[in-house]
Order: sequence, then structure tokens, then C-alpha cells
Amino acid sequence: MNTEEHRRLRDLLGAYSLDQLSADERTGVRAHLDGCAECRAELAAIAPLAAPLRLIDPDRLELSPEVPPVWLEDSIVAAIKSEPRRIRPTRRWLAAAAAVLLVGGAGTGLGYALAPDPPKIPLEPVQVTAIAAGVQSTADVVPHTWGMEIKLTGSGYEDGKRYHVVVLGADGRVAPAGEFIGTGAKRMLCNLNSSVLRRDARTFEVLDETDRVVLRGQV
Ligand SMILES: [Zn+2]
Repeated sequence: MNTEEHRRLRDLLGAYSLDQLSADERTGVRAHLDGCAECRAELAAIAPLAAPLRLIDPDRLELSPEVPPVWLEDSIVAAIKSEPRRIRPTRRWLAAAAAVLLVGGAGTGLGYALAPDPPKIPLEPVQVTAIAAGVQSTADVVPHTWGMEIKLTGSGYEDGKRYHVVVLGADGRVAPAGEFIGTGAKRMLCNLNSSVLRRDARTFEVLDETDRVVLRGQV
């Protein structure tokens, strides 16, 4: 394996995945891919992320090598600018954006930005009743294969005091769902996880340090 050729062609994979290479470059990349499992793996990793970029026609964007397009997330621009060795300044920003994916950690923001819509989380609002004075809360539950998640928002939980949450199952089981610290008048959002499946859960309770119930939810 010619290491220098490998490095050079690996740098082109982002542009290759976006079909931004000249015919000669493309032929070179294809020939290299035949013999380089590492580059094949990198290409397989970036191809799905590059797909949304491929829908953009770069010829209609008047991209300048110096000025990042406004739609490119700041984190991606920063990542591209911090990688002058890997990404040539003359490369189109589109190709550079895809190439950032090859830089590993620096591409994290890009993966987020380019990934297709995240799967919708099936939030289910549930009825809650505040028992302690001053507590105001809303709650949504999320069914998981491993149990049920409670997304609790609220205020009026005493500042600095510890609260714990339990889920009561139809079979009478009481399962812990986690703890949080009260934030007083400041609104908080916390995620609580229990091992009771959504279909088996009946109620959840928020209890204070003395095990007094301060909030109850019907699920
Ligand atoms: Zn290679």
C-alpha cells in the first residue's frame, strides 16, 4: 500500500461521495478503493451523511473558497478552518463539509447537521396533580423497550432539596425512576428512567426527603 497515495485519495473521499471530482480524480479514487479496505470503510461511513449535501447543486451556490456559505453550521466552519492540512482551501465548501466527516471528532457537529430528521420521539403528555404547595409541573412519558422514561418539567421544588421519583406498576411493584434536586422558582427539566414498561405503569410519584408525596402523575 502506497501510504502517500492512500492519504491523498482518502482526502478526496468527501468530494467523491458528493460526485465533485474530475473524471481523472474519480478514476484514481475508484482504483484505490479496489485495493484499500480502510478507504472503503471510510466511504461507507460518510456516504449516508453526504447524501443530503448531494441534493444541493454547488454550481448554483456561487461558493467561494474563502467565505463559508451561511447555511453551513458554525461548528462545521470552525472544524474545516482548523483542518488546513486535510482540506485544501481551494476545495468547494460542500466537498470540504463532507471531508470534515473524515476527521473524526471534528465531524461530530456535521453528522448532527446532516443526518436526516431524527426519529420522532413518541412523547405522551400525562396528567399530573401537585400535592405540595407551590409545585407546578408537567410530564410526558416515553415508552422504551427497557422501560418508561418520564420527562418532568417544573418549578416550586424547594431549592437544594433532594427529590426522588418512583413508578408504580399494575402488579403493585414500586420501581425507582431517579432523583433530582429542587431548583426553587427556576424551571427545571429532568429525565427519569424506570424499568417498568409503559403498558405496566399506572402512576408515578415525586417524593421529598421525608418520603412525602409532592406530585402524582397518572400514566
Ligand atoms: Zn486508502
